[in-house]
Amino acid sequence: MLPYGRQSIDDEDIAAVTAALRGDFLTTGPTVGAFEAALSARLGGPGCVAVTSGTAALHVAYAAIGIRPGDEVITTPITFVATAAAAVLQGAKVVFADVEAETANLDAAAVDALVTTRTRAITAVDYAGHPAEYEALTKVARRADVTLIADAAHSIGSTYRGVPVGSLADVTTLSFFPTKNVTTGEGGAVAATDPAVLDRARRFANQGTVRERELMRAPDEGGWFYETHSFGLNYRLPDVLCALGLSQLRRLGQFKAARARLVARYHEMLADVPGLTVPAQRAWADPMWHLYPVRIADGRRREVYDRMRAAGVGVQVNYVPVHLHPVFQDLGYRAGMCPVAERFYSEELSLPLFADLTDADQERAVEALRAVLG
Ligand SMILES: *Cc1c(COP(=O)(O)O)cnc(C)c1O
Repeated sequence: MLPYGRQSIDDEDIAAVTAALRGDFLTTGPTVGAFEAALSARLGGPGCVAVTSGTAALHVAYAAIGIRPGDEVITTPITFVATAAAAVLQGAKVVFADVEAETANLDAAAVDALVTTRTRAITAVDYAGHPAEYEALTKVARRADVTLIADAAHSIGSTYRGVPVGSLADVTTLSFFPTKNVTTGEGGAVAATDPAVLDRARRFANQGTVRERELMRAPDEGGWFYETHSFGLNYRLPDVLCALGLSQLRRLGQFKAARARLVARYHEMLADVPGLTVPAQRAWADPMWHLYPVRIADGRRREVYDRMRAAGVGVQVNYVPVHLHPVFQDLGYRAGMCPVAERFYSEELSLPLFADLTDADQERAVEALRAVLG
């Protein structure tokens, strides 16, 4: 089965991991800091903490900005469930705002209408790699005096009005799962513009441990001593995986160009297929495309999905709107709450897209699609 997404690993990636395995540190060594510094440079300069997954990054982000029971977090239903679930685990009530019909990104006006005195954060998702409308979202966040979070699991390498993803929101979370734009196997990161938020993020991802002498309550206890000042988890990304991440970051430009070329080819090959809409791109966006999400009209998405899969083309649907999952249904969320998102879901199909996708495989995917829609 041709997958919808997969990693690209070359000899330099393998050499980087091998070198880390031969080194003194499998984890908590110097490669972690080197990876965080390289990542920061890619994101336009915010401080970064490497963590074990995109889900961990979201949990760390919500913890670091102090989300707690009674708080409300507004987000999009067109995302992976972790965007919302991590906020619920911090005790928040998640409020789903509807999306824009064309990009499936959070609709700033819909967010604005849902702000209350309990709102603490707005989490946007750069769906498919296309940045959300950050100017409008920032205005809403500033007026409400809440934190703007970007779940950029899809969009490392993208820019919005020339500004890189990572420098568009107060806090940005990333995922390095194998299907994403760059990978560490499992992995993720949190970037934050406020150093105090970054400190809390690092602390939460390191079991709440304090080793800085100037912060300790008993600094003269002895050289072995450390203190725990808050509760945290172990979300550290090991050196071995940071080595892979460092190597992958060097290839980011190459990956972006490969994805852009494939997207241009899809646009061209699919332009005249009846009942099919290719993904929209705003003039101000320079996306690093993670997904190639087409929309299929006339209730035929299921048929196209089944027949393409039967033909060996591993198409995917991104995403089941989060509020429709049983865990949210059991909390009282209902179909009809986000009609634009629900309609998008009913039509969406992600075609194979990854840096090493061959022209022949891409053509095979297009033929399989044309065999259904003519
Ligand atoms: C992949 C993804 C996540 C979760 O990342 P993991 O690394 O798989 O934990 C969160 N949000 C979005 C939008 C994602 O695509």
